[in-house]
Amino acid sequence: MSAHATVPPLRPPLVIYTGGTLGMVESDSGLVPGGDIEARLARALNALPAQRRAAIPEHEVLAFADPIDSSAATPREWQRLAREIAKRHREHAGIVVLHGTDTLAWTASSLAYQLQGLDRAVVVTGAMQPLETEGSDAADNVELALRFAVNPALQEVAIAFGGRLMRGVRGRKWQTRDARAFASPNYPLLGERVGDDAILYPGRGLARQQHGAPRFELPDYAPLAEGGMARLVLWPGVTARQVAAWLEDPALRGAMLEVWGGGNVPEDPGLLGVLTEASGEGKLLAAISQCPHGGIDIGHYAAGLGLRAAGVLSADDMTPEATLTKLVHLLAQPLTDEERRRRFLTPLVGER
Ligand code: ASP
Repeated sequence: MSAHATVPPLRPPLVIYTGGTLGMVESDSGLVPGGDIEARLARALNALPAQRRAAIPEHEVLAFADPIDSSAATPREWQRLAREIAKRHREHAGIVVLHGTDTLAWTASSLAYQLQGLDRAVVVTGAMQPLETEGSDAADNVELALRFAVNPALQEVAIAFGGRLMRGVRGRKWQTRDARAFASPNYPLLGERVGDDAILYPGRGLARQQHGAPRFELPDYAPLAEGGMARLVLWPGVTARQVAAWLEDPALRGAMLEVWGGGNVPEDPGLLGVLTEASGEGKLLAAISQCPHGGIDIGHYAAGLGLRAAGVLSADDMTPEATLTKLVHLLAQPLTDEERRRRFLTPLVGER
Protein backbone atom coordinates (compact mmCIF):
# COMPACT_ATOMS: atom_id res chain seq x y z
CA MET A 1 0.00 0.00 0.00
CA SER A 2 1.45 3.42 -0.89
CA ALA A 3 1.95 5.97 1.85
CA HIS A 4 -0.91 8.00 0.35
CA ALA A 5 -3.44 5.20 0.08
CA THR A 6 -6.54 6.10 2.03
CA VAL A 7 -7.65 3.68 4.70
CA PRO A 8 -11.43 3.27 4.62
CA PRO A 9 -13.01 4.61 7.79
CA LEU A 10 -14.04 2.01 10.32
CA ARG A 11 -17.64 0.97 10.44
CA PRO A 12 -19.44 1.35 13.78
CA PRO A 13 -19.03 -1.44 16.32
CA LEU A 14 -20.74 -4.69 15.44
CA VAL A 15 -23.14 -6.29 17.91
CA ILE A 16 -23.35 -10.07 17.41
CA TYR A 17 -26.40 -11.70 18.99
CA THR A 18 -25.92 -15.37 19.87
CA GLY A 19 -28.87 -15.85 22.25
CA GLY A 20 -29.26 -15.86 26.03
CA THR A 21 -31.77 -14.36 28.46
CA LEU A 22 -31.17 -10.84 27.15
CA GLY A 23 -33.09 -11.63 23.97
CA MET A 24 -35.49 -14.20 25.40
CA VAL A 25 -39.27 -14.14 25.22
CA GLU A 26 -41.92 -16.10 27.10
CA SER A 27 -43.23 -19.34 25.64
CA ASP A 28 -45.43 -22.18 26.90
CA SER A 29 -42.33 -23.98 28.07
CA GLY A 30 -40.64 -20.98 29.72
CA LEU A 31 -38.14 -18.44 28.35
CA VAL A 32 -36.76 -19.18 24.87
CA PRO A 33 -34.39 -17.21 22.65
CA GLY A 34 -36.32 -14.61 20.62
CA GLY A 35 -35.77 -12.94 17.26
CA ASP A 36 -36.09 -9.38 15.90
CA ILE A 37 -33.21 -8.38 18.14
CA GLU A 38 -32.17 -5.24 16.29
CA ALA A 39 -35.52 -3.47 16.74
CA ARG A 40 -35.96 -4.75 20.29
CA LEU A 41 -32.50 -3.60 21.28
CA ALA A 42 -33.06 -0.17 19.73
CA ARG A 43 -36.29 0.22 21.71
CA ALA A 44 -34.60 -0.73 24.98
CA LEU A 45 -31.63 1.59 24.40
CA ASN A 46 -33.99 4.41 23.42
CA ALA A 47 -35.72 4.11 26.76
CA LEU A 48 -32.51 5.06 28.61
CA PRO A 49 -32.19 8.65 29.93
CA ALA A 50 -31.33 11.16 27.16
CA GLN A 51 -27.80 11.91 28.38
CA ARG A 52 -26.84 8.25 28.44
CA ARG A 53 -28.53 7.60 25.12
CA ALA A 54 -26.45 10.34 23.54
CA ALA A 55 -23.23 8.61 24.63
CA ILE A 56 -24.12 5.26 23.06
CA PRO A 57 -22.12 4.69 19.88
CA GLU A 58 -23.92 4.00 16.62
CA HIS A 59 -23.73 0.28 15.94
CA GLU A 60 -24.62 -2.46 13.51
CA VAL A 61 -26.31 -5.70 14.52
CA LEU A 62 -25.67 -9.21 13.28
CA ALA A 63 -28.07 -11.81 14.66
CA PHE A 64 -27.27 -15.50 14.49
CA ALA A 65 -30.15 -17.23 12.72
CA ASP A 66 -30.37 -19.84 15.47
CA PRO A 67 -29.93 -18.04 18.82
CA ILE A 68 -29.42 -20.45 21.71
CA ASP A 69 -29.70 -20.73 25.46
CA SER A 70 -25.98 -20.72 26.23
CA SER A 71 -26.35 -23.89 28.30
CA ALA A 72 -26.32 -25.63 24.92
CA ALA A 73 -22.95 -24.17 23.85
CA THR A 74 -20.04 -26.50 23.08
CA PRO A 75 -16.53 -25.89 21.74
CA ARG A 76 -18.16 -25.86 18.30
CA GLU A 77 -20.05 -22.66 19.21
CA TRP A 78 -16.84 -21.09 20.57
CA GLN A 79 -15.16 -21.87 17.28
CA ARG A 80 -18.02 -20.57 15.15
CA LEU A 81 -18.15 -17.27 17.03
CA ALA A 82 -14.37 -16.73 16.89
CA ARG A 83 -14.38 -17.32 13.14
CA GLU A 84 -17.21 -14.85 12.68
CA ILE A 85 -15.32 -12.22 14.66
CA ALA A 86 -12.04 -12.97 12.88
CA LYS A 87 -13.79 -12.48 9.53
CA ARG A 88 -15.44 -9.17 10.44
CA HIS A 89 -13.50 -7.41 13.17
CA ARG A 90 -11.10 -5.47 10.95
CA GLU A 91 -13.95 -3.45 9.43
CA HIS A 92 -15.47 -2.43 12.74
CA ALA A 93 -14.39 -0.13 15.55
CA GLY A 94 -15.05 -2.93 18.02
CA ILE A 95 -17.22 -5.98 18.61
CA VAL A 96 -19.93 -6.63 21.20
CA VAL A 97 -21.15 -10.20 21.70
CA LEU A 98 -24.59 -10.74 23.25
CA HIS A 99 -24.47 -14.11 24.98
CA GLY A 100 -26.33 -16.12 27.59
CA THR A 101 -24.81 -15.66 31.02
CA ASP A 102 -24.62 -19.35 31.96
CA THR A 103 -21.60 -20.16 29.82
CA LEU A 104 -20.56 -16.61 28.94
CA ALA A 105 -17.25 -16.87 30.81
CA TRP A 106 -16.37 -20.08 28.92
CA THR A 107 -17.00 -18.42 25.59
CA ALA A 108 -15.11 -15.25 26.56
CA SER A 109 -12.12 -17.35 27.68
CA SER A 110 -12.14 -19.40 24.51
CA LEU A 111 -12.37 -16.29 22.32
CA ALA A 112 -9.31 -14.85 24.06
CA TYR A 113 -7.18 -17.86 23.06
CA GLN A 114 -8.51 -17.96 19.52
CA LEU A 115 -8.17 -14.21 18.92
CA GLN A 116 -4.69 -13.63 20.30
CA GLY A 117 -3.09 -10.29 19.55
CA LEU A 118 -6.40 -8.43 19.12
CA ASP A 119 -5.87 -4.77 18.31
CA ARG A 120 -9.37 -3.70 19.33
CA ALA A 121 -12.05 -4.65 21.82
CA VAL A 122 -14.30 -7.68 21.82
CA VAL A 123 -16.75 -7.12 24.68
CA VAL A 124 -19.03 -9.96 25.72
CA THR A 125 -22.19 -9.21 27.64
CA GLY A 126 -25.66 -10.53 28.38
CA ALA A 127 -28.35 -9.94 30.94
CA MET A 128 -30.09 -11.55 33.89
CA GLN A 129 -33.46 -10.29 32.61
CA PRO A 130 -34.88 -10.10 29.09
CA LEU A 131 -34.84 -6.74 27.31
CA GLU A 132 -38.57 -6.16 27.81
CA THR A 133 -38.76 -7.07 31.52
CA GLU A 134 -39.48 -4.15 33.82
CA GLY A 135 -36.21 -3.09 35.50
CA SER A 136 -34.11 -5.32 33.19
CA ASP A 137 -30.34 -5.01 33.29
CA ALA A 138 -30.13 -5.70 29.53
CA ALA A 139 -29.98 -2.13 28.16
CA ASP A 140 -27.51 -1.05 30.86
CA ASN A 141 -25.17 -3.91 30.00
CA VAL A 142 -25.33 -3.35 26.24
CA GLU A 143 -24.79 0.38 26.72
CA LEU A 144 -21.69 -0.30 28.81
CA ALA A 145 -20.37 -2.92 26.40
CA LEU A 146 -20.77 -0.57 23.42
CA ARG A 147 -19.02 2.28 25.18
CA PHE A 148 -16.05 0.10 26.06
CA ALA A 149 -16.03 -1.57 22.64
CA VAL A 150 -15.15 1.72 20.92
CA ASN A 151 -12.40 2.63 23.38
CA PRO A 152 -9.18 2.15 21.35
CA ALA A 153 -7.21 1.55 24.55
CA LEU A 154 -9.09 -1.70 25.15
CA GLN A 155 -7.46 -4.36 22.98
CA GLU A 156 -8.59 -7.71 24.28
CA VAL A 157 -11.62 -9.86 24.98
CA ALA A 158 -13.49 -8.44 27.98
CA ILE A 159 -16.75 -9.00 29.83
CA ALA A 160 -18.97 -6.00 30.59
CA PHE A 161 -21.62 -6.80 33.17
CA GLY A 162 -23.38 -5.12 36.07
CA GLY A 163 -21.43 -1.88 35.69
CA ARG A 164 -18.05 -3.61 35.58
CA LEU A 165 -15.53 -4.54 32.93
CA MET A 166 -13.24 -7.52 33.46
CA ARG A 167 -10.74 -9.49 31.43
CA GLY A 168 -12.68 -12.16 29.58
CA VAL A 169 -10.30 -14.93 30.50
CA ARG A 170 -10.46 -13.95 34.18
CA GLY A 171 -14.22 -13.60 34.55
CA ARG A 172 -16.68 -16.04 36.11
CA LYS A 173 -20.42 -16.14 36.62
CA TRP A 174 -20.67 -15.61 40.34
CA GLN A 175 -24.34 -15.04 41.11
CA THR A 176 -27.54 -16.71 39.97
CA ARG A 177 -29.86 -13.73 40.56
CA ASP A 178 -27.91 -10.56 41.26
CA ALA A 179 -27.43 -8.14 38.36
CA ARG A 180 -23.73 -7.96 39.32
CA ALA A 181 -23.53 -11.54 38.20
CA PHE A 182 -19.87 -11.72 37.16
CA ALA A 183 -16.66 -11.48 39.14
CA SER A 184 -12.96 -11.56 38.41
CA PRO A 185 -11.64 -13.35 41.47
CA ASN A 186 -7.91 -13.23 40.74
CA TYR A 187 -7.44 -10.11 38.62
CA PRO A 188 -8.57 -6.51 39.16
CA LEU A 189 -11.37 -4.98 37.10
CA LEU A 190 -10.32 -3.50 33.77
CA GLY A 191 -12.90 -0.76 34.06
CA GLU A 192 -16.14 0.34 35.61
CA ARG A 193 -19.15 2.56 35.20
CA VAL A 194 -18.59 5.61 37.36
CA GLY A 195 -21.63 7.90 37.29
CA ASP A 196 -22.46 8.20 33.61
CA ASP A 197 -18.90 7.46 32.49
CA ALA A 198 -17.31 4.20 31.35
CA ILE A 199 -13.86 4.38 32.89
CA LEU A 200 -11.02 2.15 31.73
CA TYR A 201 -8.40 1.79 34.45
CA PRO A 202 -4.86 2.46 33.21
CA GLY A 203 -2.22 -0.25 33.34
CA ARG A 204 -4.58 -3.21 33.70
CA GLY A 205 -5.30 -4.14 30.11
CA LEU A 206 -3.08 -6.36 28.01
CA ALA A 207 -0.23 -4.02 27.10
CA ARG A 208 0.88 -3.89 23.50
CA GLN A 209 4.10 -5.81 24.15
CA GLN A 210 2.06 -8.50 25.90
CA HIS A 211 -0.55 -9.01 23.23
CA GLY A 212 1.82 -8.55 20.28
CA ALA A 213 0.52 -8.53 16.73
CA PRO A 214 -2.75 -10.19 15.70
CA ARG A 215 -2.02 -13.92 15.43
CA PHE A 216 -5.38 -15.57 15.54
CA GLU A 217 -5.33 -19.30 16.11
CA LEU A 218 -8.52 -20.84 14.78
CA PRO A 219 -8.04 -24.59 14.96
CA ASP A 220 -10.87 -27.06 14.53
CA TYR A 221 -12.45 -27.73 17.91
CA ALA A 222 -14.97 -30.28 16.62
CA PRO A 223 -12.92 -33.39 17.55
CA LEU A 224 -12.55 -32.07 21.13
CA ALA A 225 -16.30 -31.50 21.34
CA GLU A 226 -16.87 -35.28 21.09
CA GLY A 227 -15.88 -36.18 24.65
CA GLY A 228 -12.27 -35.08 24.31
CA MET A 229 -12.28 -33.15 27.56
CA ALA A 230 -13.39 -33.75 31.15
CA ARG A 231 -13.69 -31.76 34.35
CA LEU A 232 -13.13 -33.76 37.53
CA VAL A 233 -13.84 -32.25 40.91
CA LEU A 234 -12.29 -34.35 43.69
CA TRP A 235 -14.14 -34.99 46.94
CA PRO A 236 -13.15 -36.67 50.20
CA GLY A 237 -13.53 -40.39 49.53
CA VAL A 238 -13.01 -40.26 45.74
CA THR A 239 -11.54 -43.56 44.53
CA ALA A 240 -8.96 -44.44 41.90
CA ARG A 241 -11.59 -46.54 40.14
CA GLN A 242 -13.91 -43.56 39.76
CA VAL A 243 -11.16 -41.34 38.37
CA ALA A 244 -10.03 -44.15 36.07
CA ALA A 245 -13.55 -44.40 34.64
CA TRP A 246 -13.10 -40.89 33.28
CA LEU A 247 -9.44 -40.91 32.36
CA GLU A 248 -9.29 -44.31 30.68
CA ASP A 249 -11.88 -43.28 28.10
CA PRO A 250 -10.01 -43.60 24.78
CA ALA A 251 -11.80 -40.50 23.43
CA LEU A 252 -10.38 -38.35 26.24
CA ARG A 253 -7.47 -36.06 25.27
CA GLY A 254 -7.22 -33.92 28.40
CA ALA A 255 -8.77 -33.17 31.77
CA MET A 256 -9.00 -30.44 34.36
CA LEU A 257 -8.71 -31.65 37.95
CA GLU A 258 -10.13 -29.52 40.73
CA VAL A 259 -8.00 -30.37 43.74
CA TRP A 260 -7.87 -29.12 47.30
CA GLY A 261 -6.64 -25.79 48.65
CA GLY A 262 -3.17 -24.88 47.53
CA GLY A 263 -2.77 -27.96 45.30
CA ASN A 264 -3.35 -31.14 47.27
CA VAL A 265 -4.79 -34.58 46.49
CA PRO A 266 -5.16 -37.75 48.58
CA GLU A 267 -1.86 -39.64 48.92
CA ASP A 268 -3.47 -42.67 47.34
CA PRO A 269 -0.99 -44.63 45.18
CA GLY A 270 -3.89 -46.06 43.16
CA LEU A 271 -5.26 -42.63 42.32
CA LEU A 272 -1.82 -41.20 41.53
CA GLY A 273 -1.15 -44.27 39.40
CA VAL A 274 -4.25 -43.54 37.31
CA LEU A 275 -3.09 -39.95 36.78
CA THR A 276 0.44 -41.07 35.87
CA GLU A 277 -0.89 -43.56 33.38
CA ALA A 278 -3.14 -40.99 31.70
CA SER A 279 -0.25 -38.50 31.43
CA GLY A 280 1.96 -41.25 30.06
CA GLU A 281 -0.59 -41.82 27.28
CA GLY A 282 -0.22 -38.13 26.29
CA LYS A 283 -3.40 -36.92 27.96
CA LEU A 284 -2.98 -33.30 29.03
CA LEU A 285 -3.90 -32.95 32.72
CA ALA A 286 -4.04 -29.67 34.61
CA ALA A 287 -4.95 -28.90 38.21
CA ILE A 288 -6.72 -25.92 39.72
CA SER A 289 -7.91 -25.30 43.23
CA GLN A 290 -11.47 -25.77 44.41
CA CYS A 291 -11.04 -22.42 46.19
CA PRO A 292 -12.24 -19.58 43.97
CA HIS A 293 -9.54 -17.18 45.15
CA GLY A 294 -5.78 -17.63 44.89
CA GLY A 295 -3.63 -20.08 42.97
CA ILE A 296 -2.09 -23.46 43.62
CA ASP A 297 1.49 -24.37 44.31
CA ILE A 298 1.98 -28.05 43.53
CA GLY A 299 4.50 -29.59 45.90
CA HIS A 300 4.15 -27.14 48.78
CA TYR A 301 2.67 -30.03 50.78
CA ALA A 302 3.75 -33.63 50.49
CA ALA A 303 0.10 -34.34 49.65
CA GLY A 304 0.53 -32.44 46.41
CA LEU A 305 3.89 -33.79 45.30
CA GLY A 306 2.25 -36.81 43.72
CA LEU A 307 0.54 -34.52 41.22
CA ARG A 308 3.86 -33.29 39.94
CA ALA A 309 5.28 -36.79 39.71
CA ALA A 310 2.15 -37.80 37.75
CA GLY A 311 2.84 -35.07 35.18
CA VAL A 312 -0.14 -32.90 36.13
CA LEU A 313 0.36 -29.25 35.19
CA SER A 314 -0.36 -26.42 37.60
CA ALA A 315 -2.98 -23.98 36.33
CA ASP A 316 -1.93 -21.63 39.14
CA ASP A 317 -4.71 -19.04 39.67
CA MET A 318 -6.57 -19.58 36.42
CA THR A 319 -10.34 -19.89 36.47
CA PRO A 320 -11.88 -23.26 35.61
CA GLU A 321 -13.26 -21.66 32.43
CA ALA A 322 -9.85 -20.34 31.37
CA THR A 323 -8.16 -23.66 32.20
CA LEU A 324 -10.48 -25.96 30.33
CA THR A 325 -10.79 -23.73 27.27
CA LYS A 326 -6.98 -23.47 27.15
CA LEU A 327 -6.64 -27.26 27.24
CA VAL A 328 -9.14 -27.49 24.37
CA HIS A 329 -7.29 -24.80 22.43
CA LEU A 330 -3.89 -26.44 22.82
CA LEU A 331 -5.14 -29.94 22.11
CA ALA A 332 -6.85 -28.79 18.92
CA GLN A 333 -3.51 -27.74 17.45
CA PRO A 334 -0.82 -29.93 15.92
CA LEU A 335 1.75 -29.35 18.67
CA THR A 336 4.19 -31.69 20.33
CA ASP A 337 3.38 -32.76 23.85
CA GLU A 338 6.28 -30.73 25.13
CA GLU A 339 5.17 -27.57 23.31
CA ARG A 340 1.61 -27.97 24.58
CA ARG A 341 2.86 -28.26 28.13
CA ARG A 342 5.13 -25.25 27.68
CA ARG A 343 2.31 -23.11 26.29
CA PHE A 344 -0.06 -24.22 29.03
CA LEU A 345 2.37 -22.90 31.63
CA THR A 346 2.96 -19.65 29.71
CA PRO A 347 0.51 -16.74 30.02
CA LEU A 348 -0.85 -16.31 26.47
CA VAL A 349 -3.52 -13.65 27.05
CA GLY A 350 -3.15 -12.63 30.69
CA GLU A 351 -5.01 -15.69 31.93
CA ARG A 352 -2.43 -16.52 34.61
N1 ASP B 1 -29.84 -19.83 30.42
C1 ASP B 1 -29.51 -18.49 29.97
C2 ASP B 1 -28.33 -18.60 29.01
O1 ASP B 1 -27.25 -18.79 29.42
C3 ASP B 1 -29.17 -17.66 31.14
C4 ASP B 1 -28.84 -16.21 30.83
O2 ASP B 1 -28.61 -15.79 29.73
O3 ASP B 1 -28.79 -15.43 31.82
O4 ASP B 1 -28.54 -18.49 27.82
